Amino acid sequence: MKFGSIAVVAAAGALLGAVPASAQKARNVILFLGDAGGVPTLNAAGIMAHDRPQSLFIQSMPHVALSDTSSLNNWVTDSAAGMTAIMTGNKTNNGMVSALPSPDGGNKPLKTFLEYAEQRGLSTGVVTNMPIWDATPAATFAHVPSRKDKDQIFRQMLQPRFGDGVDVLIGKGQADAVASFAKDGVTPDQAFAKAGYRFGHDTALVGGAGRAAVLRDEDFAPIPAVEATLRQLSRNPKGYFLMVEWDMHTDDPQKGLRHAAEMDDMIRRISAIAGKDTLILFTADHSFGLRMRGGKRHAPMAQQQSAPMAQQYAEAAAKPGTTIASNPVISVEDTHTGEEVIAAASGPGANRVHGFLANTHLFDVMLAAMGWKKEN
Ligand SMILES: [Zn+2]
Repeated sequence: MKFGSIAVVAAAGALLGAVPASAQKARNVILFLGDAGGVPTLNAAGIMAHDRPQSLFIQSMPHVALSDTSSLNNWVTDSAAGMTAIMTGNKTNNGMVSALPSPDGGNKPLKTFLEYAEQRGLSTGVVTNMPIWDATPAATFAHVPSRKDKDQIFRQMLQPRFGDGVDVLIGKGQADAVASFAKDGVTPDQAFAKAGYRFGHDTALVGGAGRAAVLRDEDFAPIPAVEATLRQLSRNPKGYFLMVEWDMHTDDPQKGLRHAAEMDDMIRRISAIAGKDTLILFTADHSFGLRMRGGKRHAPMAQQQSAPMAQQYAEAAAKPGTTIASNPVISVEDTHTGEEVIAAASGPGANRVHGFLANTHLFDVMLAAMGWKKEN
């Protein structure tokens, strides 16, 4: 009955193929955080980059939701409270980094998804085009009542509460690290080496065995850096968690929109190589006051921006919250805004991303994809 057994094998294969996506577990999670990457910014970035609407890779991701970004004490969040919600499942006050205010005036640390991963032996990585101590990356590994406490954030980076801490760190803030570690009488090289890192300014350090930290003060090419990070993290058979933040604040609209397109290219590339057992999430911590209000089809957006925008930013830089750039194509009010942002997802567990949801739900989505239970 050879044919019979082939039929049985085929049927079993069909059954395996029919396991609903919600029942499949992820081995890895990659969270792409577009800082200030609201819907208006994505819309304008796609048109600027490709001359057609909905042309971003993000806009082709199979599961999409609208995520509320309000914080515990404000309708409009800052990056600290915004990322705390996503990384810990708790809304907190603006300015607080993965910590809750407590009634005695102190603060209570909130366990982050990165810490859940470290505790379970996964590899972890944090890559950002902002300073590594800034609110968004800090909310993955640090717990401080004020996002401004740079010294404490650097200290906690090297004194993890779970596992051996973040395995790959890439970001800016080299000069800040020198100033902060000097207060403890050491150089960043000494401090990171003591904590078991290969440390330097070159992203080529990443990709091999062992832990690596790259701090620099200049921009770096995003795709090679994130590919090298994946190469390194995916050596761990238990899996990995990677958070990539790309700043896309449009207080300088040209720069912000270029960064949005840059991150989109990165997500397209990483989605192609990450493997089917990886939950990939894109979201923003909050939106921003950019509006597209004109522009003609078949005419490059940049050429239609007749107003001298650079001059306008300079003039308005001292007046946050005012309209800083206005021309026939876009206007920008220099402020975070409170409307929902998109969350887009692919991979195991991505089907939990749908409808209107709270940013805190994205923590639950990541936890459920890994099959982990929430601790209180
Ligand atoms: Zn932000």
